[in-house]
Amino acid sequence: MRVLLTGGAGYVGSHAAWMLHRAGHDVWAYDNLSEGHRKAVPEGRLVVGDLMDRTKLEATLREHKIEAVMHFAALAYVGVSVTNPAEYYQNNIVGTLSLLDSMRAAGVNRIVFSSTCATYGTPERVPITESEKQSPINPYGFTKLVIEHALADYSHAYGLGYAALRYFNASGAAADSSIGEDHDPETHLIPLVLQVALGQRENIKIFGDDYPTPDGTCVRDYIHVDDLATAHLAALKNLNDGSQLKLNLGTGNGASVMQVVEACRKVTGHPIPVEIVGRREGDPPELVADASLANQTLGWQPKYTHIEAIVASAWHWHQQNPRGFVRGE
Ligand code: UDP
Repeated sequence: MRVLLTGGAGYVGSHAAWMLHRAGHDVWAYDNLSEGHRKAVPEGRLVVGDLMDRTKLEATLREHKIEAVMHFAALAYVGVSVTNPAEYYQNNIVGTLSLLDSMRAAGVNRIVFSSTCATYGTPERVPITESEKQSPINPYGFTKLVIEHALADYSHAYGLGYAALRYFNASGAAADSSIGEDHDPETHLIPLVLQVALGQRENIKIFGDDYPTPDGTCVRDYIHVDDLATAHLAALKNLNDGSQLKLNLGTGNGASVMQVVEACRKVTGHPIPVEIVGRREGDPPELVADASLANQTLGWQPKYTHIEAIVASAWHWHQQNPRGFVRGE
């Protein structure tokens, strides 16, 4: 298929771009490079453009005769969304509405949307199924939930076929370490812990050890980025006019912040000192997926089910690329 990936130069987007490319799809990344990396995209497959530039978006969709869009482009830091919500509402909501309008104008009727477990807020039941109430506790989750509603309404009114894939914690790197995670600034747990092992950071600050969890630190479901990518391919195959898929993507295994640090110690052999600091605003205690619906609907199953294997794949990338993608590339 001819597929446009917004944010295709970003972390999850680039892993999906490569997987689609290798599977023989005609792939185009559309990215403003505010967070993404030119080097992460298959050669000659990047269109540098902004979601707010409707003229360029629509022209790109028409020129490459795009049949489906995967929409990764978004801001995705829970903490920053609390302190700077304006950026989040603008990029994640207004930017996506611009994309949806451009798609309608160009007659593109399929979309796979990067949603998030942050739409659930503090869930009443864990593991979380898709029928759990969506009640976000931070602006990031709220912006994603607004778009889920827009997709449902557009599907109903205009026959849009969509899959909202609710990622749990994206992590790890491509098995051959050709691409991996590189955010600036980095705020995610696993890369920050691995920066300690690389000697780039003195210790890891743990945001709160007084949560109602077994060791007091927050529990998350870390899902490998290549497993997210395979789910995107499966969702794409599954989409028809008017499809409405809403699926959790996680392993079903929770790991606490302390357990992640411990896994990093094992994988790297570094003692990794920790410092307990206050809670980060917007963090629920525990988010773990029940992903059985994705399994039933798409036949999808994650290959990486243990935190150590996920950390090991991230570690290979960070060891080989200690400065990430060189800036500007
Ligand atoms: N975390 C932490 N120290 C850090 C970064 C993250 O203790 O320096 C915790 C954070 O509070 C959360 C978990 O690690 O409970 C995962 O956070 P991350 O930012 O990686 O992903 P998020 O869950 O926000 O999507």
